[in-house]
Amino acid sequence: MKSFDHYLKLTEEIGFVEESRQSLVYVRGLPNATIQEIIMFETGESGIILSLTSEYAEILTYSKYPVKTGVRATRTGSKQEMPVGFEVLGQTVDSFCNPLNVGSTFTKPKVSRPLDVSPTGIADRKRIEKTFETGVAIVDFLVPLGKGQRELVIGDRKTGKTSFLYQTIIKQAKLGTICIYAAIGKKKADIKRAEAVFKKHGIENNTVIIASGAEDPSGIIYLTPFSAMTLAEYFRDEGHDVLVVMDDLFTHAKFYREIMLIGRRFPGRNAYPADIFYLHARLLERAGNFLLKNNAEVSITCLPAVDSVQGDIAGFIQTNLMSMTDGHIYFDVDLFAKGRRPAINPFISVSRVGRQTQSSLSLSLNREIISLLTSHNQIESFSHFGSETGPDTKRILTTAERIFTFFTQGATEVTDTNLQIVIFGLLWLETWQEIPTMEKDIEVLQKTYLESPQAQAMVKEIVASSPTLNDMLEIVKKRKYDLLQTMGVH
Ligand code: ATP
Ligand code: MG
Repeated sequence: MKSFDHYLKLTEEIGFVEESRQSLVYVRGLPNATIQEIIMFETGESGIILSLTSEYAEILTYSKYPVKTGVRATRTGSKQEMPVGFEVLGQTVDSFCNPLNVGSTFTKPKVSRPLDVSPTGIADRKRIEKTFETGVAIVDFLVPLGKGQRELVIGDRKTGKTSFLYQTIIKQAKLGTICIYAAIGKKKADIKRAEAVFKKHGIENNTVIIASGAEDPSGIIYLTPFSAMTLAEYFRDEGHDVLVVMDDLFTHAKFYREIMLIGRRFPGRNAYPADIFYLHARLLERAGNFLLKNNAEVSITCLPAVDSVQGDIAGFIQTNLMSMTDGHIYFDVDLFAKGRRPAINPFISVSRVGRQTQSSLSLSLNREIISLLTSHNQIESFSHFGSETGPDTKRILTTAERIFTFFTQGATEVTDTNLQIVIFGLLWLETWQEIPTMEKDIEVLQKTYLESPQAQAMVKEIVASSPTLNDMLEIVKKRKYDLLQTMGVH
């Protein structure tokens, strides 16, 4: 940004602050001001125009302290932009791309893009057909996602949402996707936690953290997800698949509500202004699967997170977001309390487009597991009455228990889908009688798989030559001894 005098000379328009309400100021003057234009104050602060009446321009400022009345203001003639470029990879930046990490040697990119643009039209989009792996087995098996999908991550506080988002970033960054983590109004410790996780897994060069702190001015927190999306669009246009994680949009909605209530907008449901729907829909619509000018196919996958309160997912913001995404992953507070990790409830989770990206093998696996877990749930509700269990029922109970163990995963562990499919085959063939042996063996299998190219080739071949679950089971049955031997289990 240049100086106040520079813009005053350029636009030759001057206005005065008439009223100042925290981060909103009302300026009289500036006859040619337009919506979303940046306004500069003589004190060096700036802000964007939220609305215009015949007398006032309503301006959202980016400063920590209220702008005083009587201060002079001028137009800049430009809309809010942010610098974009590959330089930001590996950095933690604010909504305007200023470095946040101490001692950063980062130079701001030269190219800039506007923060608020219309979503890409339908003609430049393409049907979602590629699988998007999250590295979390229960999601990849039961709630599969596609590249370019928007999937809401919903759940009560402290149920593992952020951990899941980190796992997805770790998996995708290792696959070469550029990952943008938008930390919206987070505590400093949360931002540090994200940095530490990315560094530990050696993926910092494929990730960017765009962060605003809880103590930042509302205007800056409001812009954070838009900055993330703008950066994502830049990488997309450069031909890269991008993942944008927004942690979380509930906080975003709360800050937007605060700004709007200060601006005395008419409060709607739960005091949120009615245009909160438009705001979020316009933001999420910018994700998708796109066709570039050179016919290359690239995607922006978006995972917004949202808090629910006491398991109630029918809140205003939550249902709004559900209706503008392609499904949701539900983190169940009851399952979390029972010790299930991750605490994802596959029965309440939905993926509207991911299934169309799945192979027939994955689809048949999905069907079998869901049908077994459904039977398990029914039996569980019955067995409270102390009824006798027959051999069939027993089999369902023990298999379900093994499946839950199979889906158990640590907070930063990521899995390989092919390996998981083969392990599932072994489980389904009742390879393990005892849960502790199973846990121990799976650990060995995963370790060997990482280290041995021979094991990887074998697993790949088994999955590639099995069009359905039955085919896979047959192959695994035939080669079980050989397989376990190669994978280091005796
Ligand atoms: P918040 O509401 O604060 O954003 P959240 O829903 O994002 O919370 P996390 O911060 O991801 O939840 O996780 C809460 C706690 O649960 C953390 O201490 C985390 O280590 C633990 N946790 C989450 N997932 C797992 C897992 N798969 N295995 C073990 N621990 C986990
Ligand atoms: Mg979180």
